[in-house]
Amino acid sequence: MGALRIGQVDHTVVDRIQENLNMTFPRTTCVLIKETFPMPEEAFDSRRKQYRSDIILAKMEELAEKEKTLERILGIANVDIFVPSLNFVFGEAKCPGKAALISLHRLRPEFHGERPNTELFMERSSKEAVHEIGHTFGLAHCGNPFCVMYFSNSIFDTDRKQGVFCSKCSMKIEKIMDTLE
Ligand code: ZN
Ligand code: ZN
Repeated sequence: MGALRIGQVDHTVVDRIQENLNMTFPRTTCVLIKETFPMPEEAFDSRRKQYRSDIILAKMEELAEKEKTLERILGIANVDIFVPSLNFVFGEAKCPGKAALISLHRLRPEFHGERPNTELFMERSSKEAVHEIGHTFGLAHCGNPFCVMYFSNSIFDTDRKQGVFCSKCSMKIEKIMDTLE
């Protein structure tokens, strides 16, 4: 799989996300896509001052079709993203599919009026990345609030859940991986 920076994204967090994905999905390797993907202008909603994640995801799928060597792509964006039915999302992915997207915007403690904390920010980013990549493998949301596949409605959900799959989701992902090989 490939990590794709969409617009301006800090290198260190991308490195950490990649490292973590490689640990969580040992049967695949996450490479950095060198070129930065420009943020699609048409995704911007001038009234909400946010970007439509489904539009960004559709653009990424076009790229994923061209990049035949990559079986899936994780887009990493710094801007606030949303889907029309929700105020915001931490990320979105095709389930199953080739494209997943996360936003770092609401993962920084500063966004929530707290002191900057790089480690916490990196942990949150890694969890949301694993969650969205989990969807691309066909995993649905999990009811276990400590499982990485639990749906984060707020940053509290993200902080409560672990960065790894619960035993049920682990079994599911192993089975899926077996069928892919
Ligand atoms: Zn989800
Ligand atoms: Zn689970």
